[in-house]
Amino acid sequence: MSDNGFALYNLREELLLALKKKGFSTPTPVQEKVLERDEFSSDLIVRAKTGSGKTLAFLLPLLQEMELPLSKPSILILSPTRELAQQTAREAEWLSRYLDISVATLVGGLDMAAQIRTLREGAVIVVGTPGRTLDHVNRGTLKTDGIHSVILDEGDHMLDMGFRDELEGILDKLPNRERTWLFSATMPREVRDLSKKYLTSPVSLSLVEDGEQHEDIVHRAYLVPSRHKMEGLVNILLWERPKRGLIFCHTRLETMQVAQRLTSEGFNAGSLHGEMTQRERNAVLSSFKNGHLPLLVATNVAARGLDVDAVTHVIQIGLPDDRDTFIHRSGRTGRAGHEGTNILLLSPQEGEKFKYMLGSAKVSVEWNNVPDVEAIGRVQREIAEEKLLTGKETGEGSDYIEWAEDLLTRVGPKELVARLLAALAAKRSAGYNLSTELERELRRKSRGPVDKDRSGAPRSIKGRRPKGSMLRLSKGLSDGWDVGRVLHAVCTSLNVDRSEVGAIRMKDDHVLVELLPVALSRFEADSKGLERCGLIEEGAGASFVSSPSSAGRSRTAGSGTPRPRRKGKQEYRGR
Ligand code: ADP
Ligand code: MG
Repeated sequence: MSDNGFALYNLREELLLALKKKGFSTPTPVQEKVLERDEFSSDLIVRAKTGSGKTLAFLLPLLQEMELPLSKPSILILSPTRELAQQTAREAEWLSRYLDISVATLVGGLDMAAQIRTLREGAVIVVGTPGRTLDHVNRGTLKTDGIHSVILDEGDHMLDMGFRDELEGILDKLPNRERTWLFSATMPREVRDLSKKYLTSPVSLSLVEDGEQHEDIVHRAYLVPSRHKMEGLVNILLWERPKRGLIFCHTRLETMQVAQRLTSEGFNAGSLHGEMTQRERNAVLSSFKNGHLPLLVATNVAARGLDVDAVTHVIQIGLPDDRDTFIHRSGRTGRAGHEGTNILLLSPQEGEKFKYMLGSAKVSVEWNNVPDVEAIGRVQREIAEEKLLTGKETGEGSDYIEWAEDLLTRVGPKELVARLLAALAAKRSAGYNLSTELERELRRKSRGPVDKDRSGAPRSIKGRRPKGSMLRLSKGLSDGWDVGRVLHAVCTSLNVDRSEVGAIRMKDDHVLVELLPVALSRFEADSKGLERCGLIEEGAGASFVSSPSSAGRSRTAGSGTPRPRRKGKQEYRGR
């Protein structure tokens, strides 16, 4: 048998040579599964987790089958984000280098003219984001008559990101499409609907079980006091000391705030979000990739599918929107054999919800309380001592030795060393004392939340929650909002914990959000908050459709407004 596992699949010389040059010798399971097939003409649906090597799983058979020479687009690969498209294009480039074909990357934010030129010069493989690709199709700069193979990469994310119309627009304009392969880590209903419409008797290959654990990833949840998430993050970073950590936030604003705070605490952190120019994104990504920037704070969307080698830690602040998001995000670490740590920062209450969210998933999570200042101090001391005691000798006659001799004539040795150590420690954050507050919160929780009944006596409301008021906001699914985003926007703009928000019912053109008492009072104090976060169109206002008691709250929408129906596309029932 050959020492090159790829040689088993009768791949053409040019491909084997490129793989060898790259140092890839063994196909990953998803690559095996696809390559094992003896024909590649049928439509395919492949489910495999992030980082499992899906790109080569489609590129290898497609390049194998390709009849050369060719000088017009024949393979179209659609990706959800610019970075992913660029990443895939780079893989296609090195893999096809001996085949003498070229690759065009059609993404927004980059020069249109340059893209048109590569197309005109005879690019055979086209990788693009749906928006920009459709643009080229409509302008006639992307000739579609030669395209026989289409890859929908990360199908679930393309639909999540609202590219359904663009995808359909493109697929409808490919007269000679022979095979369509859909790759997706998850199979929500929207993805199944799309595949029903555009794929013909597809063969399904699945390499995931629901909630399956990535072997190389350790999941660790840290409980932090609900009002001190940022301080908790600082402690955890000091404790875990990630070499290369990717921190997830929900919004652009949050990524910038977190990065700023970390910088002011002495960490080296940058942010990545959708509103940066391509040049800014590339700059921050390349410092993250080359190790100059150890911490990158990113939104979900910006970090989607990023393949950065050796991300040691993925850090998720707060409850993930759902189990898939949690598993997806953790797929950024532990890629292709690297070990990774997936960290969750949760308040005690979110911790409970997270356990519930995991349900029967086969994921084992280590639970810890946020490390306290003493523990952090101990490791910092060990690290400092190790550096000092095993560090490079400065050697007789060096400038430092001379300097030390001079200082020792002026200050006693003990005092001098102590001052040096203090100066060293002053450079970094020492962490925060959070244990007392966390314990208080945990105790409060174990007693159960308490409220007062009419007699004034406290009683446990376990299993029950107070009814809130249903607020109707003017943005919905078709504006790109989803449950997670709404929940987050409401919490940040009203400055309340997630437990203060009850049910969220997503509709196409609006959303109903149940505000529990604290959130309600904040909303009444400042209703402009929700407008600022974009959930309400300017001037459209918000209106209540139901309230806990019929008395009191005014119904600006008029009494004719129907009560929210149960049937929603997306629903969140609150705690
Ligand atoms: P996915 O699309 O499933 O998230 P990718 O195709 O981006 O995963 O692959 C993840 C990383 O693993 C990439 O850096 C890729 O170059 C690398 N990789 C893919 N296949 C192999 C292989 N057979 N051997 C070694 N590394 C591989
Ligand atoms: Mg991929």
